[in-house]
Amino acid sequence: MSSKFTPFVPSATLPAWLGVMGGGQLGRMFAHAAQMMGYKVAVLEPATDCPAGHAADHLLCADYTDEAALKELAEQCLAVTTEFENVPAQSLAFLAERTFVAPSAACVSIAQDRIEEKRFFTGCAASSGVLPAPYMAVTSAADVDAIPDDLFPGILKTARMGYDAKGQVRVRTRDEARTAFAALDGVPCVLEKMLPLAYEVSVLTARGADGQSVVYPIAENVHRGGILFTTTVPGPNVCPEIAGKAQSAALAIIAQLGYVGVLCIEFFVLQDGTLVVNEMAPRPHNSGHYTIDACITSQFAQQVRTMAHLPLGDVRQHSPAVMLNILGDIWFEGDSDEVREPAWDKVLALPGANLHLYGKDDPRRGRKMGHVTFVAPTLAQAQESLRASCVILGIQA
Ligand code: ADP
Ligand code: MG
Repeated sequence: MSSKFTPFVPSATLPAWLGVMGGGQLGRMFAHAAQMMGYKVAVLEPATDCPAGHAADHLLCADYTDEAALKELAEQCLAVTTEFENVPAQSLAFLAERTFVAPSAACVSIAQDRIEEKRFFTGCAASSGVLPAPYMAVTSAADVDAIPDDLFPGILKTARMGYDAKGQVRVRTRDEARTAFAALDGVPCVLEKMLPLAYEVSVLTARGADGQSVVYPIAENVHRGGILFTTTVPGPNVCPEIAGKAQSAALAIIAQLGYVGVLCIEFFVLQDGTLVVNEMAPRPHNSGHYTIDACITSQFAQQVRTMAHLPLGDVRQHSPAVMLNILGDIWFEGDSDEVREPAWDKVLALPGANLHLYGKDDPRRGRKMGHVTFVAPTLAQAQESLRASCVILGIQA
C-alpha cells in the first residue's frame, strides 16, 4: 500500500479527528457514525445551534470561507468531508492544501452546477450507458430564443443552488420560458425537456482513494411537493434489468469522476423503460438513510471509511426497508400554528420502526425534522408499518 493511502485509523488512546463542512442532519449522522468507530468529529458551520453541532466533539462556528477557521479545521483533522453540496469549492481546495479532503473540490464543483453536471453525464455516456434528459444551457435571453422547439414542455432549473425542487419552473412554451428566466433574475439555467416518468430511483455508490468502489442496492423514491416523501428498497417497480443498468452506470460515473467518498446518483425511469440520469449529490443522500437500519454498512459509516482510507464496508441489505421523511408539517394540526409533538411512542410501537430525529427544536412546514425507517422480514410488512405510521402522524399515505 502506498503511503498516500495509509489509513487514518481510529485510536482509543490518541484522538483521531475527522472534520465535516456543514452542520445539518447529514453532518450529524456522519458524526454519529464516526464516533461509533472511535473518531472525534469537528464541524465547521456558521450557526451555533445546528444538528451536527449538537453531536460534534468540536464546533467551529465560522463562515465556510473563513480562512482562520479552515486552517484550524485542517490542522485538527486527519481528513475533512462535506455534508452539503453547496460548500464553497474554493474552501475545499484551501483545506486540501493542508489535509486530506474527500470528495475533492473539482468533483463537488461539477455536482454544484447543473450545466457542468449534465455536460459531464453526457461525456460519460459511452461508459455509463445512460444520458441526461435532453436539455440546453440557458444563460441569456437570446438562449431562450434558441431553445429547440422539441424541448417544450420543459422545466427551467437554475444551474446552481437548487434543491427540493426550489429554483425550478415548469414551462409549456417559449413565452413561459422567457417569463420564468426573467423571474429567476436571468441567472444561468438549464432548460430540460419534461419527460414521462414512470418512477424515480437513486443509486448510492462509494469509492476509496485506491479506486476500490461499491454500489448499494437501488432505491425507489417518491417525492411530494418536490421533497422526498418515501424511499423503498427493494423498489416495488424496479426490475432486475433496470437495477443492473443503474448500478453499472453509477459505478462508471464514479470511476470517470475519479471520485473519493459517497456519491448518490438520481435517475428517472421513463414509461418506455428508458433509464435517464438526473443529478448527483457529492455526499450521503436522504434516499440513503435506509442504509443505517437496513444495510451492513450505513452510508455514513461508508463516508468515514472512504475519507479515512479504510477498506470499504459491506453494502449488503439485510432487511427490506421503507423510509418515511418527517417534515415539520406534522407538528401542526390543520392551519393552526400551535406546535404539538407527534405521538412517537405510538410510531415506535409499530413493528420494525427506527426513529431518527435531527435535534431541530423549531418545526416549520416543509422542514426536514427527521425520518423513520421501517425494516421487516418482508417488504409488505415494512409497508404495513409505514401505512400505520401515516395514520398515527396524520400523513396522507
Ligand atoms: P432537485 O435538485 O430539486 O432534487 P431535480 O432535478 O431532482 O431537482 O428535480 C426535482 C423533481 O422534479 C424530480 O425528482 C422529478 O420528480 C421532477 N423532474 C425533474 N426534472 C424532470 C424532467 N426532466 N421531467 C420530468 N420530471 C422532472
Ligand atoms: Mg433531485
